[in-house]
Amino acid sequence: RTWLITGATGFIGSHLVKPLLRRGDRMIALVRDPKRAQRRLNAKVRIVRSLDELPDQASIDGIVNLAGEPIFGMPWTESRRKRLLASRIDTTRAVVALCNRLQHKPTVLINGSAIGYYGVHGDETIDETTPPQSMFQSALCSEWESAAAAASASGVRVACLRTGVVLSGDGGALPRLARPVRWYAGVVPGTGTHWLSWIHIDDLIRMLLLALDNGRYTGAINATAPEPLRYRDFYSLLGDALHRPIWMHVPASVVKAGLGEMAQLLIEGQRVIPRRAQELGFEFRYTTAARALRAIYGTAH
Ligand code: NDP
Repeated sequence: RTWLITGATGFIGSHLVKPLLRRGDRMIALVRDPKRAQRRLNAKVRIVRSLDELPDQASIDGIVNLAGEPIFGMPWTESRRKRLLASRIDTTRAVVALCNRLQHKPTVLINGSAIGYYGVHGDETIDETTPPQSMFQSALCSEWESAAAAASASGVRVACLRTGVVLSGDGGALPRLARPVRWYAGVVPGTGTHWLSWIHIDDLIRMLLLALDNGRYTGAINATAPEPLRYRDFYSLLGDALHRPIWMHVPASVVKAGLGEMAQLLIEGQRVIPRRAQELGFEFRYTTAARALRAIYGTAH
């Protein structure tokens, strides 16, 4: 089968490409910089810079849409907010336009989303029925999901994976969180009583592969492990895994002063449970953060 992937050069995308290649599937990657992508992607992946390069007769079985400017980075100024939105919405609209014009419609569009959809909820348990709030990260995710939902008008099954913080040793947030800990400078952001909803990269990739193949994966699905934990407990596990002490908190006011609204990503968490995935019978291999960190860091550092 043939899959179109956007964001294939990124952290999650590159983990997804490997098992698809192993099972002999074909892939088309939409990228901004073909030369750079050639260096990063297996030569078997066809690279396109624009979806206009694909004819109406192209045969594409499904689409995974992950492209988007990184959320964590420079503070969310007006121009960066615009880029964060446009990088996702414009790509998604192009994907939907492709679905509209293809003669043989793709079966499925798996779209990225994030637990930022839910906003800030303190200790409240959140599932897929919890509504978004009026704040930037909620708006970003809900506009991204709405843009993707338009593909259903072409008969395409649409599933949006509201993904938690993805844990892996080779990309995403964890290496960035671990670096100061390794240097004996591990500090818990804010009070540490806020929640971290996470997923191990292997479970996320298994969920993405299942969502491509299984027609029951539709609508919003939380891609988070069944056992979220408080930040202070996560940092304590991370300190244990790296054999380093975690001895300080950095006050929320300091994080806010440095990062503005983007500080929400560090000092206000969400306690998300994967209700739909569990109803669908998805079996998490990494149910606890302790298990995930053990698998990532093993015993030798
Ligand atoms: P990465 O940042 O690693 O990769 C995203 C890809 O998007 C890049 O490879 C790039 O592809 C493309 N991209 C980057 N900036 C732009 C831009 N300005 N315009 C168009 N395309 C752009 O992200 P991840 O793999 O970590 O995540 C994939 C998606 O899932 C993202 O949208 C992210 O927000 C979301 N997500 C990730 C989580 C995580 O913990 N990693 C958690 C929740 C959601 P190229 O350079 O080839 O064009």
